[in-house]
Amino acid sequence: MLDGFSRKIEYLRISLTDRCNLRCKYCMPAEGVPKNSHWDILTLEEILRVVRLISKLGIKKIRLTGGEPLIRRNLLLLIKEIRKIPAIENIAITTNGVLLADMAQDLYEAGIDQLNISLDTMRKETFADLCRVDALEKVLQGIDTAIKTGFSDIKINCVPIKGVNDEDIAELAGLAQNRPIKVRYIELMPVGCAFDSGLKGLPTSEVRSLIEKKWGTLHELPPAKGKILGPASYCKLDGFSGEIGFIDALEHKFCDKCNRVRLTSEGFLKLCLNHKEGTDLRTPLRKGKSDEELLELLTAAINQKPQEHLFLEKNDHRDKRNMYQVGG
Ligand code: SAM
Ligand code: SF4
Repeated sequence: MLDGFSRKIEYLRISLTDRCNLRCKYCMPAEGVPKNSHWDILTLEEILRVVRLISKLGIKKIRLTGGEPLIRRNLLLLIKEIRKIPAIENIAITTNGVLLADMAQDLYEAGIDQLNISLDTMRKETFADLCRVDALEKVLQGIDTAIKTGFSDIKINCVPIKGVNDEDIAELAGLAQNRPIKVRYIELMPVGCAFDSGLKGLPTSEVRSLIEKKWGTLHELPPAKGKILGPASYCKLDGFSGEIGFIDALEHKFCDKCNRVRLTSEGFLKLCLNHKEGTDLRTPLRKGKSDEELLELLTAAINQKPQEHLFLEKNDHRDKRNMYQVGG
């Protein structure tokens, strides 16, 4: 459906849990997150009901995220059930990759089309310091297992942070040299722990020059045709099998092309990463509201999607939720 600013909304990101097996400094506090009870988070049946309904409003793509989605119980069953919904054309997942080597085959068979793996460094010590768990080897194994399994759309997502992983930027791009994957650099957003800790993102212009210094000129690619497009722009490096992508949502706002809404694990439909506005779906789901009533709620909410984020302006709309609650 079109929102109040005539944008086509066709992509829902679902956070399956707030919990995680890493504690990345820009995302989660060292002590982890307050434990949600089972009652707090949507059940599989509730998530599926929302997906079935929202697919009638034009949602075609689902991304499963978290917290860490691979630790959610019955994840494979959920994917298989979403796969059965005719309007859903694409199911993606965003993971930290720690459990991927063990789960890649099952995820592939369950019906995942697109795999995003978060990785900010190629150095064991930096990984252990930034993510507060020593798990780099497992993530690298996960990436190569996923490629061998047959996933055709794999992206590595790196958040460049000043003074933390500057030295890793060019080396991470090298993952796409002999692998058919996309390595993407995503601007650090002033959300939750990143905002509180005062960490500063590395501007995309600096990221690009670090890559070009090691690998040569980045050649811009035209946007892919026939896909539900995301905000990334892609480049090619000479001699590389894969591609390099950049998402700089702060420097270059792409709100006029935004096509997504988000569902938190507690069932809050969030309309923009930056704004606290949205709609609680858990209460009406549990109060026995009919499909028609829920569709009305979803339609009204999507119509209220804010025009643009206000990350860089002082504003009263800022959401206090952390990235692990929103799913990135
Ligand atoms: N645990 C999974 C993972 O790390 O891929 C999924 C959830 S995580 C919240 C999703 C993405 O959000 C990750 O790629 C992570 O790097 C990114 N992220 C977390 N905090 C961020 C921030 N403040 N700015 C930009 N990206 C952030
Ligand atoms: Fe966990 Fe992902 Fe947040 Fe890191 S970015 S703490 S892996 S949810």
